[in-house]
Amino acid sequence: MSAEILSTHTAALFDHAVQRAAERLRAGELVALPTETVYGLAANALDPVAVAKIFAVKGRPAGNPLIVHVASRAQAAACVTAWPALAETLARAFWPGPLTLVLPRSGAIPDIVTAGGPTVGLRWPSHPLIQAVLRECGFPLAAPSANLSNRISPTNAGHVQAQLGDAISLIVDGGQSQVGIESTVVDLAGSTPRILRPGMIHAESLMAVAGAAVAETGPGTDAAGETLRSPGLLKKHYSPKARLVLLNWADEADLLRQVAARHLIPARCHVLAHTHLPSPEIFGQVYLIPHDAEAFARALYAELHSCDAAGAETILVELPPETPEWSGITDRLRRAAA
Ligand code: AMP
Ligand code: MG
Repeated sequence: MSAEILSTHTAALFDHAVQRAAERLRAGELVALPTETVYGLAANALDPVAVAKIFAVKGRPAGNPLIVHVASRAQAAACVTAWPALAETLARAFWPGPLTLVLPRSGAIPDIVTAGGPTVGLRWPSHPLIQAVLRECGFPLAAPSANLSNRISPTNAGHVQAQLGDAISLIVDGGQSQVGIESTVVDLAGSTPRILRPGMIHAESLMAVAGAAVAETGPGTDAAGETLRSPGLLKKHYSPKARLVLLNWADEADLLRQVAARHLIPARCHVLAHTHLPSPEIFGQVYLIPHDAEAFARALYAELHSCDAAGAETILVELPPETPEWSGITDRLRRAAA
């Protein structure tokens, strides 16, 4: 636990943090920065030596490409060989925000960023701190989530400190991430737009703006069972240390029946409920997350981090509704349970 954490809650602290972060990034070092999705581990995206440090610190497989963060559509266009009309339409509607567009990469983007692939994922984040750092640096930032590979993404500076504090020197504290789960990733490099990773901007919103069909694919494989070109979309990902089980239950008796059928001990189970709240005396701990997709996404990872910190053996999560606004959340829960 040795990283320095910079606060940003006054204008002077904010400016100081931007200067300090930009200094480190210009020197080819890593800095953990807040974004509205989750905290990112940032490096100069144009510097392959700096980007290699991200893979080393996270223990991230080299085949998993990084998202490149920009602070304008012009900066995005410089990272790609084509900026199709649909990219412009989606960027105008959703940027800055939690949407990543995958497009053919330009020569400016090093191989290591794209895992050697012909495309690059681009996002213009809305968090004011990373925007200010991007403007100060003038170069795009590669920034995957600031956690060890395969673990839960951080949604506050404390989560980053707990996982990476020994491995990095600087964390900027920009408060709680307001979206709370990773961005929606849409592939615009193929013949039809396709969602590679669902998120809080869901298929219906994309189609309303795109005026065209947007294909949805499950993690790991596409509709035909082919391996996705997005090598990062592993079925098991984003996992807490505890075993996560997704369940529906009608009431407490029903939940207890299901727990017994799985040979679980209720006292060692932590429960994350949004609608049917069991009594806290029987279970290890019971957390109520609001039955509202946006509020649920914002709170989810922090609750999973607390379950891990409290030493939960099993986390029982009440399945979310099957409506579009919950699709990104259900995707993360299914991967965490895989
Ligand atoms: P993270 O930064 O940890 O949220 O992970 C970024 C994810 O975005 C990767 O795991 C990929 O699934 C996806 N991604 C990034 N770049 C590309 C790309 N060029 N092509 C397809 N998917 C990408
Ligand atoms: Mg990640």
